[in-house]
Amino acid sequence: MEVQGNHFIARFLSEEDRPFVNAVLARAESYYKNISDNIGFSRYQNFWTWEKRVNIVLYPDQPSFLRFSGQPSWSLGYASRDSQLFHTKTITSYAGQEAFLDTILPHEIAHLILWDYLGFSRRVPVWFEEGVAQLEEKGKRGVVQKAMAGVFSAKQHFSFAAFSDMNLPAQDDRVKVSVYYAQSLSIVDFMLSRYGQDAFHRLFKALRSGHEFEEALRKTYPAIFNSISDLERKWQKYLEEQASVTGG
Ligand SMILES: [Zn+2]
Repeated sequence: MEVQGNHFIARFLSEEDRPFVNAVLARAESYYKNISDNIGFSRYQNFWTWEKRVNIVLYPDQPSFLRFSGQPSWSLGYASRDSQLFHTKTITSYAGQEAFLDTILPHEIAHLILWDYLGFSRRVPVWFEEGVAQLEEKGKRGVVQKAMAGVFSAKQHFSFAAFSDMNLPAQDDRVKVSVYYAQSLSIVDFMLSRYGQDAFHRLFKALRSGHEFEEALRKTYPAIFNSISDLERKWQKYLEEQASVTGG
């Protein structure tokens, strides 16, 4: 069964999921408009019409989702694109999740918009992508600021070396996975809070024009981040300052 919108096609298996699927399509269209603006791609529009529409595949429940997708057990959904079939874009998840409309759906749409904007073959660090995608989850920034303060004061955050090398899909330690996601968002949140949205948009432009991540960082934030190590140091210092402000 399927329901079609302007930029999305939702496919589902069970008739009783139809009201949920209709709600998903309506929300997806509104995210499509807003997320590209948030990330700074104001001229980005109408990429996904007609045959380029994004598929949203919703299984009836988590067990069937995990069985058919082969995702790690902590996964609630994912975005993918097929390099063969005209770069077909798909968001795969399952119906009936309360969090789906506010968190998973905008997160996965943000991934797809980011990939389209940067170009099919562009490589950016996984943590950076995950940080950007989580910016679109409702209420997540506030939650992560609190959570990360605790993780950081207990020294349970990752060094950047371990962080950058982590193979997320192979990771089945849920605590490590949640620290990884929290740290990803925390770093992106730091870059935005401390250095502003305009610089952040310039960083995307530099990545789009083909610069490696570290090079794009250097070009966008001259005399601030000369390397990824600078980013690591300044992010840690920022968390220390936040902790002393809140008295924690
Ligand atoms: Zn993600």
